[in-house]
Amino acid sequence: MNEFERYGNLIVISGPSGVGKSTLVNRVRQELPDLQFSISCTTRSPRPGEMHGREYYFLTPEEFEAKVQAGEFLEYAGIFSRRYGTLKSEVLSRLEKGEQVLLDIDVQGAKQIRAAAEKSPELARSVRFVLIAPPSLETLEQRLRGRGSETEEQLQLRLGAAKAELSNYKIYDYIVVNDDLERAAGELTAVLRSFRNLTSTLKKELFQ
Ligand code: ADP
Ligand code: 5GP
Repeated sequence: MNEFERYGNLIVISGPSGVGKSTLVNRVRQELPDLQFSISCTTRSPRPGEMHGREYYFLTPEEFEAKVQAGEFLEYAGIFSRRYGTLKSEVLSRLEKGEQVLLDIDVQGAKQIRAAAEKSPELARSVRFVLIAPPSLETLEQRLRGRGSETEEQLQLRLGAAKAELSNYKIYDYIVVNDDLERAAGELTAVLRSFRNLTSTLKKELFQ
């Protein structure tokens, strides 16, 4: 039996809409193929090319509320007049199996997990928070417009929220600026690799 035990760990990434989180994470997954990705629930409509069960579980408001009532969410939040949430079933069993699980959630969700970690030393040891920042607010607007996925109303909501989100940078352990995709993906991959090493620990019995 291997004397080393790999404990699971959780990487929470946040950043303003349009900063490039999905693009970066897809790039990082090419480097770390065993990285697990938690698929969130949302009440927003799918964008062209998005699939139920791949990018999100797309739920009706009633289906979402039923999961809230049943206690199925690790965290959930109201964002841009829609609801988003992380299912416990997407995260907990994978952590127990020793896997690295990545959550792409907003700052309200990150704060909920931070608060839970403050009550649990074991969780605190197993979670790191990464903020993805744009090189400038102008670049963010260009990317969001360039993606062409939002109505003008949703676009304004997203740009309006960006500054407030970035002002929460202090709750994050790392800030990665998504300027050049390859450079930023390299930095994020390094954070994930280093955290794997930190949480890959000798079996407890060896210390006794
Ligand atoms: P998010 O998931 O944060 O909402 P996306 O990954 O959808 O953002 O990216 C928003 C837009 O910006 C997309 O059109 C994407 O191709 C583009 N993009 C992402 N990263 C970069 C980058 N480093 N340089 C230029 N364009 C980028
Ligand atoms: P989008 O609609 O652009 O896919 O995502 C909008 C915002 O919702 C992003 O900031 C994203 O990080 C956040 N988000 C996605 N899934 C979740 C989730 O499960 N919980 C929380 N709190 N935020 C989420």
